[in-house]
Amino acid sequence: MQASRSVTLTAKGVLRLRRGHPWIYRSDLDAVGSDVRGGDLVGVRLPSGKSGGVALYSDASQIALRFVPLTSETANDDGLWSLLERAIGRRAGRPEACRLVHGDADGLPGLIVDRYGPALSYQCLTQGMARREAELIERLRALTGARLIVARNDVRVRQLEGLAVEKGVRYAADDAPDPKDVRAHLIGLDLDFDLLDGQKTGAFLDQTDNRAAVAARARGEALDCFSYDGGFALAMARAGADVSAVDSSGAALARLKTRADRNGLNVRCLEENVFDYLRACEAEGRRFDTIVLDPPAFAKSRDAVDAGRRAYKEINLRALKLLRPGGLLVTCSCSAHMDRASFDVMLTEAAADARRWVRVLERRSAAPDHPALATAPETDYLKVLIAEVD
Ligand code: SAH
Repeated sequence: MQASRSVTLTAKGVLRLRRGHPWIYRSDLDAVGSDVRGGDLVGVRLPSGKSGGVALYSDASQIALRFVPLTSETANDDGLWSLLERAIGRRAGRPEACRLVHGDADGLPGLIVDRYGPALSYQCLTQGMARREAELIERLRALTGARLIVARNDVRVRQLEGLAVEKGVRYAADDAPDPKDVRAHLIGLDLDFDLLDGQKTGAFLDQTDNRAAVAARARGEALDCFSYDGGFALAMARAGADVSAVDSSGAALARLKTRADRNGLNVRCLEENVFDYLRACEAEGRRFDTIVLDPPAFAKSRDAVDAGRRAYKEINLRALKLLRPGGLLVTCSCSAHMDRASFDVMLTEAAADARRWVRVLERRSAAPDHPALATAPETDYLKVLIAEVD
């Protein structure tokens, strides 16, 4: 049986295990069985010899062990595939574009699978998942009936696992859609997705429910900053707001425009740097009724947290100044290195500096198909505050 392969923790590793975090670093390993290979399911042993659970082993990454919710009886590939089936089952009732598998939170470390209507786009970011990729594709076909399956393994973290950085179509049925133009309905919109060259697996599906929540409140002249291909902008336009979208990427705005046309909506697309644009609006005395700020992660690493906090504060301060009384601010951060409390403090400081009365109406997170793991607080990465500003 595979779980006879085992890895023993040091005393420090045991402390980490007791905290419940799903990862163990290589420096916290005391011994690795001579039969253990990268990608194996292993039994984790305490120095006393007792069992400490089941994990996937990596022979390259500093993150040597990633726990999986299996027992010594179920520690085999069938056990992993049953976790896959359960993860997909939990998405019943989600829209036709949604996340089916969200890594550690679903007990499948390093595996991301997103569904876009008839197609799937996945990432295998660990040796454990990469080694099982061929079977994964077969299982996904059987479980979902997908007509097209695309691998987006073009993520640099794969290098830490000794894996190639690559992407491509892995399965296409005779009636498969064009991977660069996959259609799916989402929050009342008919959208096209580029699974080969779109960001991440093709789009940011973690904001789906937040877009619906914002559409329900958006009004008047609305500005979607860092719009990408228009997730928030199109939802607000459909709800009747007069929307301008700002992004530095012409390609993203071109897609936004196509999507708007297809849905009979009108969105002004501005190819600009948001920092400069907000400054220019302030100089011109422009005002808005709704502003959405959903930037890329400004704090990408622990060292970048201070600079990141300053950048968040700058755009929030400028946005607050541009809102008419009664206006709506939607402010987001997807930086895992900035926790909820720090993001709140950022808004407190921006509100004080702007001398505006900021009523927080909703504190939101990623959609429920991107669950966070209680014992890994950094997985609660997406913070969204919706506030009314006087
Ligand atoms: N709000 C989007 C996701 C944003 S992704 C959604 O709902 O899907 C981040 C976007 O910010 C990218 O499209 C990128 O092109 C853009 N971007 C990054 N820095 C920028 C800047 N300084 N000014 C304008 N756009 C920027």
